[in-house]
Amino acid sequence: MTEPRVPGHDDSTLELPCGETVDVHGLDMGMREFDCDCGATHAIVMDVHPLARFVPEFLVEILEQTVETADDHGAFGTTHMMGVVLEEFPDEVASKDVSEDGAVGCTLIWVTDFDSRRLHEIVVELVVELMEHAVSHAEDDGAMSEFERRMSEFDVDSFVEQYRQERDIESEHDEVV
Ligand SMILES: [Zn+2]
Repeated sequence: MTEPRVPGHDDSTLELPCGETVDVHGLDMGMREFDCDCGATHAIVMDVHPLARFVPEFLVEILEQTVETADDHGAFGTTHMMGVVLEEFPDEVASKDVSEDGAVGCTLIWVTDFDSRRLHEIVVELVVELMEHAVSHAEDDGAMSEFERRMSEFDVDSFVEQYRQERDIESEHDEVV
């Protein structure tokens, strides 16, 4: 991809949806969000972050097995998930390919206009939609009604609240203990 470079902008600058810019060299893997000069808090996601940051491992496994991916990023993971988020919120997500930048320990970075809590809710909602789609394609009426029954009891808000508390206690690095 060749995009015209703005004179004076170096390659480590990421332009945010709010109009501010951030130097990707100032971001590190442990960050989930940061306070921006615009006054808002923006979520940060890197491709090296596991999808389990947002949803439990068993769901990650189901997604890996059921969602087909048509690119070279391997099984469904954070890169695909953020691609879905970007599709749904094209004006609220900025992304940058930093694969050429040795100073950053990842390949892709996304910064969203909303904070990490809101991003988490959006990701969970989209995962539910993806799974619903996968289950409906399985042509198994029993599975579909079971899924719908479970989902009717599922509350995104309380799930996210609880999940974030548990994960924060377990590890600040998103790894399974
Ligand atoms: Zn901002």
